[in-house]
Amino acid sequence: MNVGIPREQNSRETRVAIVPSVIRQLKRDGHEILVESGAGLAAHFPDEQYAAEGARILTQTAELYRESDIILGVQAPADAGLLRQGSIWIGMLAPQSNRALVSAMAERNITTYAMEYVPRITRAQNMDALSSMATVAGYKSVLLAADTIGKMFPLLMTAAGTVHPAVVLVLGAGVAGLQAIATAKRLGAKVEAFDPRPAVREQVKSLGAAFIEMEIAEDAETAGGYARQMSEEFIRKEMAAISSRLPKVDVVISTAQVFGKRAPILISKEMVRLLKPGSVIVDLAAEQGGNCELTRPGETVREGGVTCIGPVNLPASIPSDASQMYARNITNLLLHLFPKGNPNSDTTDEIVRGCCITRDGKIVNDAVRQALQEGAQS
Ligand code: NAD
Repeated sequence: MNVGIPREQNSRETRVAIVPSVIRQLKRDGHEILVESGAGLAAHFPDEQYAAEGARILTQTAELYRESDIILGVQAPADAGLLRQGSIWIGMLAPQSNRALVSAMAERNITTYAMEYVPRITRAQNMDALSSMATVAGYKSVLLAADTIGKMFPLLMTAAGTVHPAVVLVLGAGVAGLQAIATAKRLGAKVEAFDPRPAVREQVKSLGAAFIEMEIAEDAETAGGYARQMSEEFIRKEMAAISSRLPKVDVVISTAQVFGKRAPILISKEMVRLLKPGSVIVDLAAEQGGNCELTRPGETVREGGVTCIGPVNLPASIPSDASQMYARNITNLLLHLFPKGNPNSDTTDEIVRGCCITRDGKIVNDAVRQALQEGAQS
């Protein structure tokens, strides 16, 4: 099959879906790779590197879409009309916020697979772009904080006296939170963390961070490993526990999310006043509404000496490694969906069913169909 890699249309997107090093693997399975000229440039992969691996470089966007059987993207295309009728698109579709696009993809008989809907099962770990991108975001969140606070992270004993280590509080210790903990520890900070899922306590401790003790709800985790939406009573107690820690911390990295829902507010405006002047909050849940009441997605807000950063698309700020990881994930998914270039014939396969959003002119994913119907009614 002809696999096309277009330039990302969102001007702020620096990642690219395929990096030169995975092309050999795709060609071994019989695929031809077409790359739009400049597609990898922002991630530091020039056309020559793709060509050296055997990709064909096309200068016209329309030609790339016309000649491709499968398009691999990072973000969803701006317009389904670009894609050839009956072709296949794989990437981060964000179907909830791209409702019109999803319907248009179905109408144009385009088969779409959303990377976010790859089931988070052991067998699909090497296709799990959500985890890869959360790893990048968790790492970068700590660098942003370190670059913003007016103190150093490690304990230093110098002739000019002792510099005390920064204290970092991480809220939500999933993939991003655990990477934030590990990064802050490597920089020498004292780290503490909280997450309502019982399994997380040991993971936090194994990274050398302290776990904030609270009564953990035993039913906090879904069968899929995600957190449930916690009760108001639980969140109230959690906010009290966080409040008791805030006067002592220099940095808060908040990553708490509940799949498919608005992120829980864990730090109210009043609670922000408990932080010392110069402290920093990096709210990785900004795109899902934020964990802090001050958060504005894509903006940095300063209030009472505290800086609250609400980053959007942090993985795009480390485009080279983020693209490498994403490219491996999407390649593994493509080879699973189309082994040796033929559609995976196992219709019961959890991965194929889980991430297929549109096929045969219809929206075939129940969760997406339901969410789109609810959105249309509201
Ligand atoms: P996520 O981005 O949905 O949420 C981030 C974290 O926020 C989670 O750890 C969640 O427990 C936490 N959270 C939710 N409500 C909170 C609250 N009120 N206070 C504090 N924290 C709160 O989750 P994620 O990082 O994408 O993944 C979560 C988990 O899913 C992983 O740690 C893992 O157990 C599981 N997972 C499994 C696989 C796999 O098996 N292939 C892959 C990825 C993730």
